[in-house]
Amino acid sequence: MTTTLSQRLSAELAGLRDSGLLIRPRVLEAPQRARTHVGGVDVINLASNNYLGFADHPALKEKAAAYLREWGAGAGAVRTIAGTLRIHEDFEEQLAAFKHTGSALVLQSGFTTNQGVLGTLLQPGDLVVSDELNHASIIDGLRLTKATKKIFKHADPADLGRVLSENETDGLKLVVTDGVFSMDGDIAPLDRLVEVARKYGAVTYVDDAHGSGVLGEAGRGTVHHFGLQDSEDVIQVGTLSKAWGVVGGYAAGHADLRELLINRARPYLFSTGHPPAVVGALSAALDLVQQEPEFMERLWANTRFFKAELARLGFDTMGSETPITPVLFGETGAAFEASQRLLHQGVFAVGLGFPTVPRGLARIRNIVTAEHTRDDLDQALAAYERVGREMGVIGG
Ligand SMILES: *Cc1c(COP(=O)(O)O)cnc(C)c1O
Repeated sequence: MTTTLSQRLSAELAGLRDSGLLIRPRVLEAPQRARTHVGGVDVINLASNNYLGFADHPALKEKAAAYLREWGAGAGAVRTIAGTLRIHEDFEEQLAAFKHTGSALVLQSGFTTNQGVLGTLLQPGDLVVSDELNHASIIDGLRLTKATKKIFKHADPADLGRVLSENETDGLKLVVTDGVFSMDGDIAPLDRLVEVARKYGAVTYVDDAHGSGVLGEAGRGTVHHFGLQDSEDVIQVGTLSKAWGVVGGYAAGHADLRELLINRARPYLFSTGHPPAVVGALSAALDLVQQEPEFMERLWANTRFFKAELARLGFDTMGSETPITPVLFGETGAAFEASQRLLHQGVFAVGLGFPTVPRGLARIRNIVTAEHTRDDLDQALAAYERVGREMGVIGG
């Protein structure tokens, strides 16, 4: 007998419910800011990717409004047909100059960028070697290709060397890694990964979603952090929805990369480009981060303070090196319960358990932003101390 839609939906949802994996997104009843309103409670927000506090920043909103008035509400067509406005091209030039790369192309999101770029570059006979903890959008992007796919151990240049030495090919070799890993907040050892990649003639592809606006001079990203920006054998992709506060993805690198993507990247060819308001807000974000170094300074001062205080209280922040600050709780249930208790104390931070992170390493992931005041962080730390003691995670 044919499966009905109701049967399919209820069976799938029951499966998720039974395994404790059913997601019900929390709803913010106020703008995305360091303090917001969730579930009827005023909260200190440690759950966003809004590193620089740009999501509700007046400079972004003003330029978004100006572009909206001048250029309209929508692009009106896919970019290759009639949807490329002057402001799209201007922003891409601004981004390439910021990144010091030969070219840059903007796509709808970080997710579609990985689909578009990996799908375009890789052909049958090519070899792609991917860090075992890479983001889901990379994994999906690689599924679209017929290249040979191999995994190397997380952030392990020696294992990368082993995989490259065991898989010789005349095709293109691509090493793929996140710049900053979203669950642990560690930075990929790009200098050593690129060195190994070069030894085997491989190109390095860095998804810098959590590094852009966070690392490198004026937030130019992980590739700049390691001084590799002028390398033609390094491709940077990333998102414009995290530190940059809006939405979008980009690919930046070799001078010819942009033109090939325009011709081949399927999300670029078959899905409409950004509305003018998005372009305006993004352009303001790039200006702001370069004109006012205070944003990054505050982000890092807050990051250092918050991590040091959590450690002093006795929490394990799992070796994180960036504003992504995990706090280890161990079992999934404990992390979820801690997240609930924190919310009751006015702190909004998400618990992450298996299968998002390995069994036994369930945690709460906090992201500190430039917008948090010392007062916000003190209050969050006081809540952590109470919850940690109640649950026996820290002593005292
Ligand atoms: C968040 C993220 C993405 C997706 O970016 P969006 O712009 O939100 O689609 C891609 N890659 C990595 C590593 C990410 O962390």
